[in-house]
Amino acid sequence: MNEKQKERLLQIIDESENIVFFGGAGVSTESGIPDFRSKNGLYNQHDVQFEDYSPEYLLSHSCLYEKPEVFYEFYRQKLDTRGIEPNIAHTTLMKLEEIGKLKAVVTQNIDGLHQLAGSKEVYEIHGTTQVNYCVKCGKRYPADYIFECGEAVPRCDCKWHGLIRPDVVLYEEQLPDITINAMDSICKADTLIIAGTSLTVYPAANYVNYFSGKHIVLLNMERPDKLKNLLGKNDLFIQGNMSEAFVAILRHISEVK
Ligand code: NAD
Repeated sequence: MNEKQKERLLQIIDESENIVFFGGAGVSTESGIPDFRSKNGLYNQHDVQFEDYSPEYLLSHSCLYEKPEVFYEFYRQKLDTRGIEPNIAHTTLMKLEEIGKLKAVVTQNIDGLHQLAGSKEVYEIHGTTQVNYCVKCGKRYPADYIFECGEAVPRCDCKWHGLIRPDVVLYEEQLPDITINAMDSICKADTLIIAGTSLTVYPAANYVNYFSGKHIVLLNMERPDKLKNLLGKNDLFIQGNMSEAFVAILRHISEVK
């Protein structure tokens, strides 16, 4: 981020009264959770144990029911976020909400780090690993259950012995109802910050099209193809690690206060 970009970023933050944040896996990489499509992302890790399956299949509804042992093994190995802490991006978004500038976080992430950082209005459009439930009776199980139950395929103690699954949206599944609120918040925003997403997972990626406010701020290692035509002259793209931008915002709002 150069000085000119930093100045423009802080100017946009100052001018905005209804910021909405739309984020993806890149928001949590600094906390140590790999994203999917970067060089070190989950899709580029070649693991002999899972090489017969595509990453999309391993995280699909079909896999959960056709090959539950494989699904849970992959989930335990790759999506264990226990003990992981929020980073500067999560903390700054919480502070922006606290001072009344940010109205909602819309996240594709399933790691629960925005809530852990203290953000209140969070729409997890792909669900969360922090809740597990029985697919038959709906009984809820704590976040750690799948990791600690000691069964290859965790099953409920109800009369149907239903699978206990994480409350995440798998490939082939529909998005939850709260996505309506997420879209509504994007529609009403004056500034949309889009960060750490390749905008390749649908329908989530289409949500940014509901924005009709003044500024888009895009923070990403690279510019997603999807946004090539979306960015206008009032918008700002800062290429690189988003932490730098969030450090600047946090410092700025602390000084203004
Ligand atoms: P993606 O992996 O497709 O894209 C991540 C993007 O973030 C890339 O463009 C990458 O260059 C960028 N990026 C990574 N670290 C960054 C950083 N520090 N600063 C700036 N940019 C950075 O992720 P996606 O678009 O979110 O789609 C993948 C799907 O995977 C989502 O649906 C999400 O639910 C899921 N996912 C979630 C987690 C999580 O909960 N933490 C982790 C992996 C995947």
